Amino acid sequence: MNNVHCAITSCKISTYNKPPSVNFHSCPTSSDMRNKWLLMLKNKCAMLDWTKSKICSRHFEKKYFDAQRKLKENAVPTIFAPTMEKSFQNDTTAKTRIEKLLCKQSQAQLIIDVKSNLNKLKEPTNLDSFITDDLKWKPEAPTEAQLWLMVKKQDRIISLLSEELTQNKKLIETLRKTVETSKLSKQETEQNLETMKYIVKSLQEKHATLEEQIEILTAVEAR
Ligand SMILES: [Zn+2]
Repeated sequence: MNNVHCAITSCKISTYNKPPSVNFHSCPTSSDMRNKWLLMLKNKCAMLDWTKSKICSRHFEKKYFDAQRKLKENAVPTIFAPTMEKSFQNDTTAKTRIEKLLCKQSQAQLIIDVKSNLNKLKEPTNLDSFITDDLKWKPEAPTEAQLWLMVKKQDRIISLLSEELTQNKKLIETLRKTVETSKLSKQETEQNLETMKYIVKSLQEKHATLEEQIEILTAVEAR
């Protein structure tokens, strides 16, 4: 199967990165439903091809799915959470020219840029002698040493943050799996309930037949 991308521009879901719980859905065929979709999707899709475009299940409310997780006839996409990237770009707190330019760069671009430039800049060999044991610079430390200390602290903050991010991602994944499992077990319980109901019904029928037979037998005996 070809790699499918969700047609919603702000959504990064594709065949390759989608979680198992996410599915792709085709666009409606009736003009009535297409009009409803258009109302919701204007400004949301760079390109919408009714026959080819797919929308991932993240944009549909729960009520629009049947028990087989298929989209119902009346389903309309209504959920469009802004992505992280988008909110970075729309950062209105940026004031200076450099801040504004920084907002336009992606996180990956910035990290690569900083890392490669730091490699080019030589760390002062005597940096250690200017830094105290509680990570402050000594009064005689040159500006360069002060800056290098800041760089190292920032670097540490970044690695702590990304560790936290990884932990959070794992947590989210665990939560998602728990939700999936509980959904499945709910389905199973419902199926079991159906089976039990069927068994009870069969037993009741059998019971009725037995009662009839007893009645017939007693009638025969009474003769
Ligand atoms: Zn999507």
